[in-house]
Formats: sequence, structure tokens, C-alpha cells
Amino acid sequence: MLVNKITSGFVIQVFDTELQRFISQEFVAGEDCQYEDEDGVSVSSEVLEVDGEEAYLPFDMVQPTSHIKERYEDGICPDCGLCIPYDAREGGACVNCGHVWNPIAPCDDDDIG
Ligand SMILES: [Zn+2]
Repeated sequence: MLVNKITSGFVIQVFDTELQRFISQEFVAGEDCQYEDEDGVSVSSEVLEVDGEEAYLPFDMVQPTSHIKERYEDGICPDCGLCIPYDAREGGACVNCGHVWNPIAPCDDDDIG
């Protein structure tokens, strides 16, 4: 049986007026959950229990992508100082020195090689 777990709540989307775009979003789940089968008939939450606990799926939302340039201090390549282009993408590299744009943090804490 397929069950629809329907959670009411609200979405907070953070807009940065200086960057003029949304920078993050978050789903805040309310207390109310409804469970319905494929025909829309209400079912007990017990059908979602696995090993005695109700199965849980986090409300992970896809975050808006930010410019790589904004993640680096002064918007420049940390290795060669080249100005990072606005269309630089995660996994891409500096055209001058080959520094790979880090998707997580601008600092090179874990130099692998
Ligand atoms: Zn570079």
C-alpha cells in the first residue's frame, strides 16, 4: 500500500536585498500530519511504523545556488589572485591556475593533494 503523509507547515525563504536574490529556504513542519491511502482515505500513522517507530524523512529543501565568487574572500582565486568570473560553477576551475572551486567553503583546510 502506498500512503501519503501530508504535513502542514510553512516555508521560510530568505531574500538578501544586497545580493538581490534568495539565499536559502527552510520548511518548518507543523504538528498536524494526515495519512491517506492512494484513494484519499484516511489511514492510521501506525502503517508507517518500522521497528516500532514511525518512519521519518527529513524535509530537506534544495537550496538556491550561490555564486562561487561570493564564497571567496574578495571574489578572487586564493591561489593566483585572478578575479573569479560571476559564472564560475562548483566543480569548475580557475582558468589561470586550475584551482578547483570548492562547493563548501572557501578555505583550504583539507589539502588532499
Ligand atoms: Zn587561480
